Amino acid sequence: MTVRPDDFTLSTVFEDEAFDNHEQIVFCRDEASGLKAIIALHNTRLGPAMGGTRMWKYASSHDALTDVLRLSRGMTYKNALAGIPFGGGKAVILGDSRTDKSDALFEAFGRYVEGLAGRYITAEDVGISTGDIEIMNRSTRFARGTEATGLGDPSPYTALGVYHGIRAAVAARFGHTDLGGMTFAVQGLGHVGFGVADLLHKAGGKLVVADIKDAVVNRAVEAFDADVAPVDRIHAVACDVFVPCALGAVLNAETIPELKAKAVAGAANNQLAGFADGRALHDRKILYTPDYVINAGGVISIALGQPDQPDTEVVERTRRIETTLGTIFSEAAATGTQPEIIADRLAERIVAQAS
Ligand code: NAD
Repeated sequence: MTVRPDDFTLSTVFEDEAFDNHEQIVFCRDEASGLKAIIALHNTRLGPAMGGTRMWKYASSHDALTDVLRLSRGMTYKNALAGIPFGGGKAVILGDSRTDKSDALFEAFGRYVEGLAGRYITAEDVGISTGDIEIMNRSTRFARGTEATGLGDPSPYTALGVYHGIRAAVAARFGHTDLGGMTFAVQGLGHVGFGVADLLHKAGGKLVVADIKDAVVNRAVEAFDADVAPVDRIHAVACDVFVPCALGAVLNAETIPELKAKAVAGAANNQLAGFADGRALHDRKILYTPDYVINAGGVISIALGQPDQPDTEVVERTRRIETTLGTIFSEAAATGTQPEIIADRLAERIVAQAS
């Protein structure tokens, strides 16, 4: 039975199409602060459930539930392949992040996280800032992603992981890891994209870039001698690797036929608009790098980073993304299967083998 938004009731959670035998779902309500939130612990076989809190103005409670169920399941897969001892979880706060934030709201949310006694560890996600996490920290020990709780901004580690993921994709598609002289089309020069562009430039790569913000584009032209493409054409420029670091669903029925790259490897979440788009890339012999594997450097830094400690282990584990992707690409090539399918199977095997 599939649940439609208009007939959602609590009694239908187990039948929801996004429900995947989640271990625990916590509905959080604090009337005084206005808090309405859902925490979903998908799977804790590998360790405590870890995944950020998203604040979003959902159209309905059902949309919020579906989102948290899907996102928490995704974290189980992501954390398993990142090689960190954490399971998958996620939280959503129902509300407008521009108008509905208050100290009382985040303190109340923190109390719910604390109530799970370490079975769930949270961090920033869409709509949640480091400042919000600091407020949660007044009432819980289990909110991370700040300098007080770890290494602070995860983006440089995400960028490092993406760089290593690009090396793995180049090795699989072109048969070498020398990025010198190769051309990379980078979409989005934000916290992660600019860092990736920097690493590619240092490795001798040529860059074509696009961003809706002129200032960052100008910085990239100056720092990396980058060429510039219009924001709506960056996916279609002549290049070796397309590096999406801005939006989701950039690989879709309109963009895929226009791609000239032989590989796609970037930081953006949910790059494939749908399952069929992965197939379309495969049919065009364009190697797709599963997004949740290549962009795991940030979660690795949040999971393992300690305040005032060297980041040696975080860097080491983040670099291992290259090896993990190498395994995924080899198995994909050997079986003629899409890499994102192999990644899911590998994650499921890792979780199943955990005692
Ligand atoms: P960000 O907001 O700092 O950067 C995004 C950049 O994309 C901005 O500069 C923005 O101007 C640009 N942009 C927006 N729309 C665009 C368009 N149509 N064309 C070109 N550029 C556009 O975000 P970020 O932290 O760098 O994250 C980038 C992506 O990576 C997101 O999809 C994010 O979910 C994902 N991601 C980030 C992290 C992390 O550690 N920050 C971790 C995992 C995944």
